[in-house]
Amino acid sequence: PVSIGGEQKPRILLMGLRRSGKSSIQKVVFHKMSPNETLFLESTNKIIKDDISNSSFVQFQIWDFPGQIDFFDSAFDSDMIFGGCGAVIFVIDAQDEYAEALNKLHLTVTKAFKVKQSIKFEVFIHKVDGLSDDYKMETQREIHQRANENLGDSGYDQIHLSFHLTSIYDHSIFEAFSKVVQKLIPQLPTLENLLNIFISNSAIEKAFLFDVVSKIYIATDSSPVDMQSYELCCDMIDVVIDVSCIYGLRDDNEVAFDHQSSSLIKLNNGTILYLREVTKVLALVCILREDNFDRQGVIDYNFLCFREAMQQVF
Ligand code: GDP
Repeated sequence: PVSIGGEQKPRILLMGLRRSGKSSIQKVVFHKMSPNETLFLESTNKIIKDDISNSSFVQFQIWDFPGQIDFFDSAFDSDMIFGGCGAVIFVIDAQDEYAEALNKLHLTVTKAFKVKQSIKFEVFIHKVDGLSDDYKMETQREIHQRANENLGDSGYDQIHLSFHLTSIYDHSIFEAFSKVVQKLIPQLPTLENLLNIFISNSAIEKAFLFDVVSKIYIATDSSPVDMQSYELCCDMIDVVIDVSCIYGLRDDNEVAFDHQSSSLIKLNNGTILYLREVTKVLALVCILREDNFDRQGVIDYNFLCFREAMQQVF
C-alpha cells in the first residue's frame, strides 16, 4: 500500500451543513453517479465512512457528517475524528444563506486545529452552477473575507483556509478534489519533475496522471492547467472505460482497465489524445499535436522510462 502524508491511510473528511451537497459530491466523484440523479438522494443521518481504498490510488475515507448531528457534543471523540485525517473539506451551499455555515466552519476548523495542526482546510463554495460569474466572485470574496475575519478575531491567524468554487454539474468538483488530494501526496514534486522530463523529451503539450476510478488527477507537468484540456482527458477516460466494458470483457471477473489498456484519439483540429496504463489504478493521458506523433516509438520508449521511474518512486 502507498503511504501518503506519512500515514498509511489519511482521511479526507467531508463536512458541512445538511443539504450542502456532501453526499452528491461523494456519489458523483467516486461512484460515477450522474449529477441529475443526486436530486433523489435521501438525506443521510449517520456518519458514513466510505472507504474507497481498494479501487483507487487515492487512499482515503470520506466521512459524511450530516449537519443536524452536533458533532461538538462531548460524545464525539474529536481526537479520533481529526487525529488521523489529512484534510477537512468543508462544503458551503453558495445558493443558500451562508451565515450558519460560516459559524459551523469556524467551529470545525478551530476544533480540528487543536487536535492536529497540520490538517489542510479546504472550503468548497459549492453549487455555483446557479450563479452568474460576477456573483460567483463576489460570493467567494465575501466568504473568504468573513471566514478569515472570524479566525483573526479569535486569535487563530495561523490557520490557513483554501477556497474552491465547485459544482457537480461541471468538472470543477473533480478539479478541486484533485488539488486537495495533491497536497496529501509527499512525492508530488518528484512526480511533476518526471512528467516535465517526459513531455519535453516527447514533444507533448500536456500530461495528466489520473486516478482512473475518480478521474482525480494526482499530478501533471508544470505548465498551466486549462479546464478544457482537463475535461477532454476526463472524457477520454470515460470513453475508454465504457468501450472496454462493452466490448472488452469476456467474463464478470475481468476489469475494464488493465496493463494492456491504451488508447489513441485523433481530434479534427490536429490534436491527439493518448492514454497509457501506468499501474492498476493510474493512467497517463497526454495531449499532443498530430505532427509530433509521427515519432510514436520515441514517445512509447519515453513512456516506459517514465513508468519505470514511477515504480521506483512508490
Ligand atoms: P448533503 O445533505 O450535504 O449530503 O446534501 P445532498 O448531497 O443530499 O444534496 C442536497 C441537494 O443539493 C440535492 O438535491 C442535490 O441534487 C443538490 N446539489 C448537490 N450538489 C449540487 C451542485 O453542485 N449544484 C446544484 N445546483 N445542486 C447541487
